[in-house]
Amino acid sequence: MKTVLVTGGSRGIGKCIAESLAKDGYNVVLNYNKSAEKAKQIKKDLEEKGINIEIYKADVSKREEVKKLVKFTLNKFKNIDILINNAGIAKLQMFNDITDQDWNDMIVTNLNSVFYTIQETLPNMIHNKNGCIINISSIWGLVGASCEVAYSVSKAGIDGMTKSLAKELGLSNIRVNSIAPGVIDTEMNSNLDNAIKEEIKNETPLNRIGKPIDIYRCVKWLIEDEFTTGQIISPNGGYVIL
Ligand code: NAP
Repeated sequence: MKTVLVTGGSRGIGKCIAESLAKDGYNVVLNYNKSAEKAKQIKKDLEEKGINIEIYKADVSKREEVKKLVKFTLNKFKNIDILINNAGIAKLQMFNDITDQDWNDMIVTNLNSVFYTIQETLPNMIHNKNGCIINISSIWGLVGASCEVAYSVSKAGIDGMTKSLAKELGLSNIRVNSIAPGVIDTEMNSNLDNAIKEEIKNETPLNRIGKPIDIYRCVKWLIEDEFTTGQIISPNGGYVIL
């Protein structure tokens, strides 16, 4: 049975990915940080259906906590076959209002976290000559978002890491890809009012906002695929076509 580590699995896209993979029979470690009650509820709900999932609190912006998260996963399941870097934060602000603290929080949470989890997981994947790393970036890393410069930089950085690492790790049979979602209906977008959501929908060829399950479907495909690496795949309903 393959083991998956999902960061930021307590809410939104990560929750959908972690729950769905547990239902599909994978060993899943769901990482959370602040939403302990939500993570415990996910575990309880799944266990009531006879499905096991492990939950583990770690702030993935901190190297030491990531080390403990990876150690916990390896102690439980011996290997990490699939790493899904999903944890992230977003903040809307004008470029000149971004403080050093805002900038650091964004980069450390969204980008350093990916650096830490991959570095800590790699020895096991290289030893096994097998691995699938999926980094959740964003359309805004591809095309840039006004008033979200730090966020866009962090996501573009992730895509750069994906491409470079795919080249470095190919001979170890480790695939590295990014999923760059379009606008997905989660708490991250709770600041968008209905008029803006309607506008986005109208500008989207498939005429809807995305759902977490749309991202899960892409994750599932990337897990099963064997010849895709270094790619940035963007499920976005056609909102962004490059
Ligand atoms: P969300 O609903 O706000 O959930 C964010 C998740 O990240 C939560 O589970 C949160 O955990 C976790 N997280 C945040 N900081 C963390 C930290 N330091 N350590 C561990 N976990 C942390 O967001 P979402 O919409 O599901 O987004 C998930 C990913 O998709 C993010 O990387 C986001 O940038 C990306 N994305 C989202 C959209 C969208 O439209 N929603 C579009 C493109 C890309 P706790 O609550 O437990 O702290």
